[in-house]
Amino acid sequence: MAAVTLTNVVKRFGGFEVVHGANIDIADGEFVVFVGPSGCGKSTLLRMIAGLEDISGGDIAIGGKVMNDIEPADRGIAMVFQSYALYPHMTVEQNLSFGLRMNGNPKADTDRRVKRAAEILRIDELMQRRPKQLSGGQRQRVAIGRAIVREPQVFLFDEPLSNLDAELRVQMRVEISRLHKELGVTMIYVTHDQTEAMTLADRIVVLKAGNVEQIGAPLDLYDDPANRFVAGFIGSPK
Ligand code: ADP
Ligand code: MG
Repeated sequence: MAAVTLTNVVKRFGGFEVVHGANIDIADGEFVVFVGPSGCGKSTLLRMIAGLEDISGGDIAIGGKVMNDIEPADRGIAMVFQSYALYPHMTVEQNLSFGLRMNGNPKADTDRRVKRAAEILRIDELMQRRPKQLSGGQRQRVAIGRAIVREPQVFLFDEPLSNLDAELRVQMRVEISRLHKELGVTMIYVTHDQTEAMTLADRIVVLKAGNVEQIGAPLDLYDDPANRFVAGFIGSPK
């Protein structure tokens, strides 16, 4: 069980409040997309779920357990960022296994996980290459692979495709959808791109200036937007 529940979550930087009491319920295995314009608090919400940012108020629970004081490594989550941050001097295989090796994970299990991630992402052929010998899409696959080997219950993606060209973005979108179906885990995906949100999401959370404007399935938001902002952002004619 890895439902994710945000209850009255507040974030302040200094005296400045940037998330104003967010309530978001994400079901186990659901694909939820946070959308909204730049600066609306998408990354901050994701970083609080990951434990990379303290919360100023409220609770965040993962799998029914309140995570407020739990270290990032113990939350059962893995995060994929916009910048791939691969180790340039290591091969793909070493990039995938590095975190597990550092944690003292047994070699046989590490090898099994790396092999499985490579198969899922279809990068088996690239294992001995270094990042500079990879295309942008291949690098992004390796970055996702580093999340997969951790076998998290929840994947967090922060605009993972925004550095890719339009064609690759479409291709990787399909890959991420497939990954969600194959792994069956909870995914929370941040983007400012409406098309990405509409095509990937089971449900979309629309954010504006630190407030949740509406939560719903893509077509429900399209057919019945709560206000003009949601309508405009989703591209609904209403
Ligand atoms: P988004 O990811 O939707 O573009 P962010 O979550 O990055 O938005 O930022 C939300 C708000 O919080 C913005 O006003 C941003 O300037 C502010 N903010 C983010 N990180 C910090 C920080 N470390 N210190 C101060 N303000 C921050
Ligand atoms: Mg952001």
